Amino acid sequence: MTAPTTITNHLPTAELQALDAAHHMHPFTAQGELAAKGARVITGADGVWLTDSEGHRILDGMAGLWCVNIGYGRHELADVAARQMRELPYYNTFFQTTHVPAIALADRLAALAPGDLNHVFFAGSGSEANDTNIRMVRTYWEMKGKPSKSVIISRKNAYHGSSVGSGSLGGMAPMHAQGGLPIPDIHHINQPNWWAEGGEMSPEEFGLARARELEQAILELGEDRVAAFIAEPVQGAGGVIVAPETYWPEIQRICDKYEILLIADEVICGFGRTGNWFGSQTLNIRPHIMTIAKGLSSGYQPIGGSIVCDEVAAVIGGGEFNHGYTYSGHPVASAVALENLRIMEDEGVITHVRDVAAPYLAEKWAELADHPMVGEAKIVGLMASIALSPHKDSRAAFAAEAGTAGFITRERSFANNLVMRHVGDRMIIAPPLVITPDEIDILMTRARKALDEAMAEIKDQGLFVPAS
Ligand SMILES: *Cc1c(COP(=O)(O)O)cnc(C)c1O
Repeated sequence: MTAPTTITNHLPTAELQALDAAHHMHPFTAQGELAAKGARVITGADGVWLTDSEGHRILDGMAGLWCVNIGYGRHELADVAARQMRELPYYNTFFQTTHVPAIALADRLAALAPGDLNHVFFAGSGSEANDTNIRMVRTYWEMKGKPSKSVIISRKNAYHGSSVGSGSLGGMAPMHAQGGLPIPDIHHINQPNWWAEGGEMSPEEFGLARARELEQAILELGEDRVAAFIAEPVQGAGGVIVAPETYWPEIQRICDKYEILLIADEVICGFGRTGNWFGSQTLNIRPHIMTIAKGLSSGYQPIGGSIVCDEVAAVIGGGEFNHGYTYSGHPVASAVALENLRIMEDEGVITHVRDVAAPYLAEKWAELADHPMVGEAKIVGLMASIALSPHKDSRAAFAAEAGTAGFITRERSFANNLVMRHVGDRMIIAPPLVITPDEIDILMTRARKALDEAMAEIKDQGLFVPAS
């Protein structure tokens, strides 16, 4: 166990929970419900392991929120942050000034990114970066003399962030239901989720059909109205939805045919998650803009950005882009991100994903499909999902409210000291990229145990019943 390092760690768990409930408003949380139960207090972490205030060692199957790619406890990043804070803790990049960390990180990202994605606009998060993208693609077309091209096409059940702009880009119905979203000129087509929505089609037919919804939308809206299409290479927060193999080639064909920009939201898929630097490389996509955040700094500092192609950058650069954040290219965050990228490179983290961890996990994960409550098991690199089902032959959903079985399974997983999330009735994992085969064995043992216990509980409650 790591020694307490913060002033509040010496308080008993119950007191921390009471203070948390009294004063701390949590994201994406039913506050009252959490207050009654008490939040789990995480006090330390190392590698893929979390420690909580009760001394449990928990395997973090989600790399925090899909971000701690190099694992916890890398002191090099702390040292770099401390050094940068002493040297230049802050300066802005607004008024014709710059600084070395932002220069070096932009240069590094331009080298890593495929094709002519050579220019970086920094933000503090993925949400901010996607807000930048909304304004950037619309401004691009305006500067090209085509101001009517303002519609951005996205997908239902996509996740692009939680600000007003990025939440509008996303296709999460419960988010749109609060706070007056979406903003105008965002259009959502259906997602390539074959398990839940494929009906009688084969995955290949379904993938093509869903891709062609993009073409239909462009034709219906008019090519002169459409600015861009945005998508995650693999939908993350939507449940690790892996599109059928026919989907992306058809999307790329459509984007090439019509004059629209392709934005790949690489916030999860970027920085090794899929076994390459970027998900666009794994899926053979050629975006004009990539959104980045999360794994860029392995979550050690909040930083995001947009990596932009030569053409878009040149057009935007022809005038003044009235946009930016106080912390765009923050020197400490940039220095930490650079050190994170250095570690990924020097230690061959992506090679480890591609040649060791992902193939090993893929083999074990596929075996979960034998479990009586598991329908499909999907995986790309180190992001994976299973669909829970009470009758997998018909790909049936549960009769109970969506997410009931998933929540019970998540609770059983937590009780077995594994962080595995649920999205509705899909279970998802995305562990730190440095996870070893031995640790994958532990993850799988705990996941199976959680599934067994959850299925027993679901049956006990009379919920192992297909929707009719
Ligand atoms: C998490 C996420 C975002 C938002 O990033 P934040 O840093 O939470 O604002 C955007 N896009 C995708 C694909 C994400 O997973």
